[in-house]
This record gives sequence, C-alpha cells and structure tokens, in this order.
Amino acid sequence: MNKLGVHALVWVGGWSHAECTKAIEQTAKLGFDLIEIPALDPKSIDVDFTRKTLEQNRLGVTMSLGLDAATDISSSDPEKVAAGEARLADALRVARDIGATHVCGILYSAFQKYFIPPTEKGIENSIAAIRRLCDEAAKSNITIGMEVVNRYESNVLNTAAQAVAFCKRVGAPNVKVHLDTYHMNIEEADTEAAIIQTGDYLGYFHIGESNRGYMGAGSIDFDKVFGGLAKIGYSGPITFESFSSAVVNPQLSGILAIWRNLWVDGEDLAAHAKAYIEVHLKAAREAHARTPIAAPLDRR
Ligand code: MN
Repeated sequence: MNKLGVHALVWVGGWSHAECTKAIEQTAKLGFDLIEIPALDPKSIDVDFTRKTLEQNRLGVTMSLGLDAATDISSSDPEKVAAGEARLADALRVARDIGATHVCGILYSAFQKYFIPPTEKGIENSIAAIRRLCDEAAKSNITIGMEVVNRYESNVLNTAAQAVAFCKRVGAPNVKVHLDTYHMNIEEADTEAAIIQTGDYLGYFHIGESNRGYMGAGSIDFDKVFGGLAKIGYSGPITFESFSSAVVNPQLSGILAIWRNLWVDGEDLAAHAKAYIEVHLKAAREAHARTPIAAPLDRR
C-alpha cells in the first residue's frame, strides 16, 4: 500500500556525511519506507555517499525543491526560465543517481511570496519547462509532483483544482499533483472534496499539522484527509513534514518562516506521526470498505 516517508528536516538541517547518515539511519530505524531529501541546491548532495547509505539501510528516497527568483520558470524573462530549467535538470540528475522515485515541490515557480499575480506567458513558460522535465524524468521512471502551496509561497498553484488543470496542460503521464495538508488547510474550502476531485492525478502527499508540529496537535480535520485518501484508493507515498526551530536549514527554514519551537525530539515526533498515520488510514479504509453503496433505483 502507501509508502510512508519522513522529511529529512525532522532530523537534520544540512546534508554533510554525518547528517546524511543520521537522517537515513533514524528514518530506517523507525520503520519508514522512504526519506524525502530537500535539495534547494542539488549540487550540495554527495550522490555516491547518499546512495550507498540508502542502500545500506534499505531505505527508499524522494527529493523536493523549490526554485528561486533567479531560476523562476514561471517568469516571462527567458534568462530566468533557462536558469530554472538548468536547476531542475541538475535536481533530476541527482535524483536519478541517488535512486529517487519522485521529484516534487514548487518546481513550477519560485518558492517565495509574490506581490503580483502570474502572467499567462509565465504559466506557458512553466508548463513547457515542466513538460521537458517530465520527458527526461520518464527515462528514469521518476514521477514529477506539482506541490500545491499556500498563497504566501507561490502565486501559481494554490488549489488542487488549479494543479489538476496545470497537469492536464502539461499532458505528461508522469506529472502528478502533490497535495499537502498544511497548505490545503489554508486554501481549500473542503479538504476531502479537494482530494476526491484530484483523484487519479494525486501522485504524492505531504501530511503535516496546521502549525507544522505534532500530528493531531493542531487544527486540521484529519478524518476528512484520511477519508478522502481512502475514498480515492490513493496508493502513492505519504510523507510526514514537520518543522521546528530545533532543527534549522538556514535557507529552507527562512522561506517557511519556522520561528517557533514546536518540538525538540525528532525521533519521538516521527514515531508518533508514523503510528498516527497508520492508525487513521486503517480506520478510514475500514470505514470506506463497509459503507454500503446504494443500488441504482431501477435495480431494486
Ligand atoms: Mn509540503
């Protein structure tokens, strides 16, 4: 069924050999299937060392990143678009070489607050660049996830419906919608309906609380989240994302505005998240399997 993952920032803020080893060993020890490695700067990852450590721990891997202002493929400036495509190509090479199955995140624009809405020309540039990325990714069996984020982190994809429309325009079999409960809690009117409407386009899922701390210790209605996932029979990865000022990546933590200490013990946090996800997903699936489906009127 679903592979369960954890974001590396639950463990470490960087990716030195010591940090890579710690994050991978801790993730494997708790029984997760995969680790998601953030790669805002893909070249900072030691590919051989990372792949070897993953193999030693029999752990799967996915990669996430967002672009910046100078590499924004949703810009109308061809230089920025070209720089963005080069960054995405770098990321894809690193993902392929460490054995990643998915590359996801804010790949379609800069990962920042915008002060103006996107332009149609910019959206066209982004779609064309993502289509080329998908063609290349397909050669390595890699799925490309378009992460839907709140309005303060991009101006392009803020709702699931926008992401489905975007993926349809890309038109590649390996482009999928990547939803995240933290962002959905801000932008969607109904999280369950948004998941159901995304349906087969859903290819990656981030689970996290409204304050990005312990699962169940915020304001998100997770019955709706797990209910939606059960109803569409979602079988892709579910990765737990949580951030605290206890573990800092200067670049990522700054963009995400991680100013408060929501937890200190990443191991306790991740172990709790894994149990919470498994229990609630199981309950939602059992409830869904036992919901009687009304026979059509004419067959009664
Ligand atoms: Mn996310």
